[in-house]
Amino acid sequence: MPRKHLDLGNGVFIGWTQAEGKRIGGIITHPNPKNESGECWASFWFDRSMFKDDDKRPVWEFNGDFEKPTLSPSFQCTDCGFHGYVRDGKWDPA
Ligand SMILES: [Zn+2]
Repeated sequence: MPRKHLDLGNGVFIGWTQAEGKRIGGIITHPNPKNESGECWASFWFDRSMFKDDDKRPVWEFNGDFEKPTLSPSFQCTDCGFHGYVRDGKWDPA
């Protein structure tokens, strides 16, 4: 289970992920009643430094605020289709 560092509301949480001591992205945990755990999660990155050899991998634009993040574009889970925006530290359903 991913960590839940930040509560975005609507049952959505961010757990930040690190590489070499630096936050490089996160995992968005979101409700999914079809899963036994009632949740599902999706990863994102805003720092491309891990993917120097892969310039096609999508990264998100990030305002740099770990308390009130704004990330773009929107998030759509490839597993369950859950879709919305992270704006000013809140989950905004699409
Ligand atoms: Zn999902």
